[in-house]
Amino acid sequence: MIDISIVIPIYNEEANIQLLYDRLSGVLGEMGKSYELMFVNDGSKDRSLALIKDLASKYPEVRYLDFSRNFGHQIAVTAGLDRVEGEAVVIIDADLQDPPELIPDMYARMKDGFEVVYARRKSRKGESWFKRATAKWFYRVLARITSVEIPVDTGDFRIMDRKILDVLKQMPEKNKYLRGQIAWIGFRQTYIEYERQERHAGETGYTFRKMLRFALDGITGFSDFPLKIVTYFGFLVTAFAFFVAIYVLYSRFVSGNYVQGWSSLMISLLFIGGVQMIAIGIIGEYLSRMNTNVRNRPLYIIRETNVDRE
Ligand code: UDP
Ligand code: MG
Repeated sequence: MIDISIVIPIYNEEANIQLLYDRLSGVLGEMGKSYELMFVNDGSKDRSLALIKDLASKYPEVRYLDFSRNFGHQIAVTAGLDRVEGEAVVIIDADLQDPPELIPDMYARMKDGFEVVYARRKSRKGESWFKRATAKWFYRVLARITSVEIPVDTGDFRIMDRKILDVLKQMPEKNKYLRGQIAWIGFRQTYIEYERQERHAGETGYTFRKMLRFALDGITGFSDFPLKIVTYFGFLVTAFAFFVAIYVLYSRFVSGNYVQGWSSLMISLLFIGGVQMIAIGIIGEYLSRMNTNVRNRPLYIIRETNVDRE
């Protein structure tokens, strides 16, 4: 039985893998617990896989999964979680933005009687103004519109107990938003605070498109608020249209002042058209996620691994 499993998603991290290994094995070695490092190579285009395989050939605690292509960060973490054996599991980024040195504290806190200890960012270094602002705004909006209390300013860096993992593996959704799913599961959860570091080397694998999709997965997975707001808005516009109709009929039959009106016609036409398109788009976001789940394709495809368990 392994005490601690570490899940590390990897996308083009060739410049970080060795240092990450050194720091993780240093910290975990000092803890005196048995551990495994589960590297999930998410279709890297650089030498990441070769470096991981090299580590695996030298150290028996290094495991790896190699995806057939880039499936995305959340799916890479999910695949790792599917295969780990530990009594406790840590999710950590490969770029050293999440300091491995926090793991002993998180582990100790868990042993105080918590099933999840997540790391909450007190500050973020070396990230663009845009990323910090959108992230801050997004987490707060999401917190307001969901019934699940998803912690703000928190990524996936955390330690969790086997109990959480077992439930997580039962959750069938294809559009993963792990930090929300884990909050949804419940049990006793707490956090420690830390200063988020700069990326050690390399570039972010989260493009704007990936970030947007991730944000939409969070919203659609945990809230029906966008659907509801569209319905309310529909009622509002309809009520407004009702009064306008009365006014139009009055102009037509009573005051007789009705020839002009092209501008109001155009404005309302465009306005209603826009509202309808937004509404359809919002429905479409939910529908496309339903579609993904109904299609039920495998979540990821493994090309190569040194892990023999299913
Ligand atoms: N990552 C991944 N697949 C992707 C993008 C990122 O596995 O498509 C990994 C990446 O290697 C890192 C973690 O997910 O270990 C977080 O990604 P990144 O540091 O690029 O995101 P940021 O910190 O900029 O939000
Ligand atoms: Mg990063």
